[in-house]
Amino acid sequence: MTEARGKLAASLGLVAALSLAVLTGSCDDGTSRQTASTAPSEPRAEGPNVVLIVVDTLRADRLSQMGYPLPTSDALDVLAKRASVFNAAFSPAPWTVPSVASIFTGMLPPRHRVDATGSALASDFEVLPEVLARDGWHTAGFSYNPHVSREAGFDQGFHHFRDVTGATADYPDLSEMIDEALDWVRSSAAPPFFVYLQPMNVHGPYRVPDARQDALLGRAPSPGFEFRGALMQGILREGRLALREDVTPEVTRSLDEQYDTAVRHTADELARFLHGLDAAGLYDDALVVLTADHGEELFDRGGFAHGYTLHREVLRVPLLVKLPGQRSARRIEEDVSLVDLLPTFADLLALSPASDPRPVDGRSLRPLLEGASSSGPPRPILAQTISPERCDGRLLREDGWELMLIDRNYENDQPRLRLYDVRRDPDERIDRAADEPERARRMLARLEALYDGFGEDAYPRSHYVIDTNTRQALEALGYSSDLDPSAEDGPEGAPPRSRVRARKP
Ligand SMILES: [Zn+2]
Repeated sequence: MTEARGKLAASLGLVAALSLAVLTGSCDDGTSRQTASTAPSEPRAEGPNVVLIVVDTLRADRLSQMGYPLPTSDALDVLAKRASVFNAAFSPAPWTVPSVASIFTGMLPPRHRVDATGSALASDFEVLPEVLARDGWHTAGFSYNPHVSREAGFDQGFHHFRDVTGATADYPDLSEMIDEALDWVRSSAAPPFFVYLQPMNVHGPYRVPDARQDALLGRAPSPGFEFRGALMQGILREGRLALREDVTPEVTRSLDEQYDTAVRHTADELARFLHGLDAAGLYDDALVVLTADHGEELFDRGGFAHGYTLHREVLRVPLLVKLPGQRSARRIEEDVSLVDLLPTFADLLALSPASDPRPVDGRSLRPLLEGASSSGPPRPILAQTISPERCDGRLLREDGWELMLIDRNYENDQPRLRLYDVRRDPDERIDRAADEPERARRMLARLEALYDGFGEDAYPRSHYVIDTNTRQALEALGYSSDLDPSAEDGPEGAPPRSRVRARKP
């Protein structure tokens, strides 16, 4: 490790001993889009069953366990009453691809650089499902997000992988995923297992089956908001921000109700999965983690959807962790990041180290989960997004302050540099940059130094070829086609290693 790398590692609190590394012998050869194909070669007898649920687009503050006044997620008390519930868990990016890549690698987006539409998770990453499969877990992944797909490399390490790439934005209802996952668990002959679920109902267009429309409010959500209507698509896809003036209170009320009803439906279905595990005698001793890849703007400050800002409504995610055998709840206030998940799994499950360790940016949360007052020395929380159409921005959260550097997005009437006292102003409403110029300068220098430090460590970007159907599906979900399938050069001074990741047969 070079001196610069060492400084960055120390600064970010890297857990060198838990670093997981370059992949050799990927398990993705035998995966299938919809059916199980291979069994683990040497299932090991010890080790708990593991469940990781990443609810796409679920804001932390819309869960009843996080203080939301409506009973959106009461059903998840089956987990929350036996789990550590984190009050301040943050995604390192406000949209799916970089966030899920961070969950799978333990790296921040400026290091893994799986951060643009069309980015692929290259096979030289050793990702969480691969580590688990290598150590004997029988692995299954179920993703209804077209970004988290086999084409994009997110099937690595799964013996069974179910995705919806190339089909349509009209992904199946979550109830199908739950049925399939329960069937897989019950028929899985080789414990321990690892199950990954990524439901999409909380993502626009906030789909809820007709029979479940009244589940939250006792009636269907009020009309007014249409995700695919001209008003929202004009704002979302055509960037006609002036149309936001046409967003009435009726529209936002309708949006809130649709979103909350989707949360309710999702929570009920996920609870059905957990109860199904319990009925099979597989819940008490399982390690269960529920989180989200990012949140959602619901016109909190003028915009909607995600990827356009780095504010709390898109970065703060739920995080609930039930240890094997855990019977009581715990509340944790420390700021943590989704990059902490991989080191936490590695620590809790004693996963074997890689032969060629590379740095990860997270650290194990095990001390917190076991009752310690902190997971280690104070450290910065970082987030970033790069998008030619939505937002270029970086965020540093440290010592109760948050610095946001937004180069461009729909808030262009706001200053480029913003500073928030998040202890007194957790909703990030009062920009303190003008009152605290010295603090802002200091934090900006710190932010730039931290990001500059990734330069020599960063992986090259890797893209996959998006077929027409998938492109249409992504566009229907509001993603632009800002993809450039051409390979980019590697970090300055390094030989170019990028390549187009072609579709597998
Ligand atoms: Zn997402």
